[in-house]
Amino acid sequence: MRASRMNLATLREDPAEAEIASHRLLTRAGYIHKSGAGLYLYQPLLKRVIDKIARIVAEEISRAGGLEVTMPIMQEEALWQKSGRWSQYQASRTMLTVKDRNGQQFGLAPTAEEVVTDYATAVVKSYKQLPACFFQQHTKFRDEIRPRFGLMRVKEFIMMDAYSFHASDDCLGKTYEAMRIAYLRTFNRMGLTAFAVEADSGAIGGSGSHEFMVAADIGEDAIIYNPTTGYAANVERAAGVIPKAPTWTAPATATSVLTPQAGSIADVMAFLNANGFTGVQAAHGLKCVLFVVTVATNKGERQIKTAAFVRGDRDVNEVKLGNAVARGARGSQLDLRPMHPDEVRAATGAEPGFAGPGEGLTVDFCFIDPSLKDVGPLVAGANKTDHHLVGLVIERDVDAKKFRWEDIVRIKAGDLDPAGGLLAERRGIEVGHIFKLGTKYSTAMKAEFLGPDQKLHPFIMGCYGIGTSRVAAAAVEQHNDADGIRWPMSIAPYQVVIVSAGKPGDTAIDQAAEQLYNELLSAGVEVVIDDRDTKPGVKFKDWDLVGIPLRVVAGRGIAEGKFEFKVRGGEAKDIAIADAATHVVSEIRKHLAALNAAADAVK
Ligand code: ATP
Ligand code: MG
Repeated sequence: MRASRMNLATLREDPAEAEIASHRLLTRAGYIHKSGAGLYLYQPLLKRVIDKIARIVAEEISRAGGLEVTMPIMQEEALWQKSGRWSQYQASRTMLTVKDRNGQQFGLAPTAEEVVTDYATAVVKSYKQLPACFFQQHTKFRDEIRPRFGLMRVKEFIMMDAYSFHASDDCLGKTYEAMRIAYLRTFNRMGLTAFAVEADSGAIGGSGSHEFMVAADIGEDAIIYNPTTGYAANVERAAGVIPKAPTWTAPATATSVLTPQAGSIADVMAFLNANGFTGVQAAHGLKCVLFVVTVATNKGERQIKTAAFVRGDRDVNEVKLGNAVARGARGSQLDLRPMHPDEVRAATGAEPGFAGPGEGLTVDFCFIDPSLKDVGPLVAGANKTDHHLVGLVIERDVDAKKFRWEDIVRIKAGDLDPAGGLLAERRGIEVGHIFKLGTKYSTAMKAEFLGPDQKLHPFIMGCYGIGTSRVAAAAVEQHNDADGIRWPMSIAPYQVVIVSAGKPGDTAIDQAAEQLYNELLSAGVEVVIDDRDTKPGVKFKDWDLVGIPLRVVAGRGIAEGKFEFKVRGGEAKDIAIADAATHVVSEIRKHLAALNAAADAVK
């Protein structure tokens, strides 16, 4: 490609709204053009990157047994009614909907379990055809609450979504493992360092799932991990043990104490310390957070008033809590929100800030985190304005029928891993997710196959997603420097750029550059020649920003039979004109071979 025809438009300034490197650099280098909020046009450079990523993904998923298809983006409401997810996705407002001229309603694919399950029922009839796995790389729509960070979180994006069908759990387990390997191979081939973490299954559902994370400080996900055992989980799911709080001298029985206007834990503890209860601290508090959780059950929607108790110095994990409520109500969660002040007054008979587990609390579900088991006396709200119970012992003072022990706490760095050692926390970008779905969709949609026993059985399913377009942004997060992007060879829009750096009219230089360009094209190299009528310094800056891995400069050295050759971020060196094409080709091969070797090393 000729740079003079590429309509390159690099920006010197960072776009005002860009908070992270990938958003900044992809905009400045001319990869993305903002078309609306959370909507991007993929410019020619990005189109090439995305196609390369998609190709690697397709090769690896095919290698794991996937067959590529294309499913419609418009999905009939009726299909989603069958799985029971229409109301769930309407409630969360994740799914965008459209109506056709007849008034029929469609969802715009946020994911495609319903469509593919319907398809599998039509084409897979017998256990002899199993396992089967279909995948696509197609546009997905999600009406995100807060689209941000450029390509990271958008309303419209490209996702690889694969779906597998099995006759046994054992067979699903094998495909799940093959997909885990395929994902790691995929990311390694792209020069991305990604790792698997245990994850919550969210609205997709099923019995287990792993997310694939790219470590990055700006990542939206918090990951809890044990550096010694290798345990890693999304904080939404992470389990751990909270170190015990120091002891304090509490009253022998739960005593109601007037704590005027002390609604927050910090205020209460400060007040108590100043009023004869020395040594009591936030960790001795029983924090109560009140929620309204909407759950879809087979008897219809239910609004469930829920009290969540965690230790005073800790936070409620709303994902764990939502799951606990849904399990308890035998339904699926539609919504979870904190109670409004009026609802708190109705549930506790007190102003907000004084809720406790004892008399006066009227909720549907009450969960207490097991970190509060056998910990001795606590300070809790008395369900009476301006009053706290000091010295409450849950096992002694709270009716066991009124609550359930349930892991609902947010784990953090410094907590203990039950398997030994301390947990740590880091941030990551989720680039992929794999799920064991079991029979959730096949049972609901009556998707069955004929087994060896001549009876019908529901498919056992798995599903697997990679954020093809998000991967491009994640790669930039991992590969950039002060000058711009540093694409790994396998996903760079072009492999090499030839910069013609002669004075205007220096035909020897131009001719040498043109000749190498033609040689490289003939060798199948993805090459750009910068033939623009621009100063060499400007050209160099542009290509560093764009991030082309290799650069050949045709300049003064041509008179002595030499090009200058440089790997992005490395040292420049001279190469003989006669060897230049061979040198470039072997350099590209070397880079690709290293990435492939990393893929082959995956275990
Ligand atoms: P997140 O937690 O980031 O919202 P998710 O868990 O909803 O993602 P999945 O349903 O697991 O996402 O989708 C599979 C993959 O699609 C994700 O791993 C991610 O890489 C990508 N993805 C999801 N939502 C978006 C989005 N709004 N913009 C770009 N990529 C996305
Ligand atoms: Mg996910």
